[in-house]
Amino acid sequence: PRAGGRLPEWLKRPLPAGNGNNFTAHLIEDLKLETVCESARCPNRPECWSRRTATFMIMGNLCTRTCSFCSVPKGAPEQLEDDEPARLAEAAARLGLKHVVITSVTRDDLPDGGADHFVRCIGAVRSRLPGAAVEVLTPDFLGDGAAIDAVTDANPEVFNHNLETVPRLHRVVRGRATYARSLDLLDRVKRRAPHMVTKAGLMLGIGETIDELFEVFADLRAIRCDVLTLGQYLAPTPKHIPVRRFVSPAEFDSLAATARLLGFKQVVAGPYVRSSYHADEMVRP
Ligand code: SF4
Ligand code: SF4
Repeated sequence: PRAGGRLPEWLKRPLPAGNGNNFTAHLIEDLKLETVCESARCPNRPECWSRRTATFMIMGNLCTRTCSFCSVPKGAPEQLEDDEPARLAEAAARLGLKHVVITSVTRDDLPDGGADHFVRCIGAVRSRLPGAAVEVLTPDFLGDGAAIDAVTDANPEVFNHNLETVPRLHRVVRGRATYARSLDLLDRVKRRAPHMVTKAGLMLGIGETIDELFEVFADLRAIRCDVLTLGQYLAPTPKHIPVRRFVSPAEFDSLAATARLLGFKQVVAGPYVRSSYHADEMVRP
């Protein structure tokens, strides 16, 4: 994080006690899984892993895109592993998860963008943990309707797709992704499966204005998006796009209140909020 170099007080936290962190780390290593917690250098990892929760990242640890805020490694994509869905389900079972969050690198190299692999992972979790809720946090599949529908039809409880930032900053922040395509994805999911919870997230402090945020909130409500997450952007390294400002906890509260007035069923906002932060505590609308 670099905005004048120093972190504000509200972003300093003690490390959690206990050995939950080691338990989760060993299990993920043992089952040779990737997590976005590690690859995106998420600041919540000590906390989430101590709570024995993690967000699995499928289809390898190398992304075909190069978003300027993201520390997931870039490179030539890896071969899909047939046994990854079973390993993921095993990890979810050993962690005792009641809410399993599955995300992925973006696989623009695959004809279906990896939709079928998502479907297989959802299926594996369903058969191993029939009582658990599944949340997918997907890439945009380059707008491929058949791919989006395939994942929707696998019937995850929550379909999450992040907008990350306001339209004006998309090109510099999200590279190949476009605002319209991401909105269209969430709209398509809701139209096809109105019962499904749709969810979107934004990073704040990257140069957006408050008015621009309100426009995004309105756009999301216009497509009946249910859940909104708002968190502080923290640059993973000095080479990533810099932090422009730190948003205070009070300001997060006030943005969340405005968003709730617009009709989101749940808004999770705060400096440390990430798309998957405490996802298991979500009320199901
Ligand atoms: Fe992992 Fe999400 Fe927790 Fe970050 S907030 S450590 S990505 S589960
Ligand atoms: Fe990171 Fe996703 Fe962008 Fe890939 S597409 S660089 S994983 S944010």
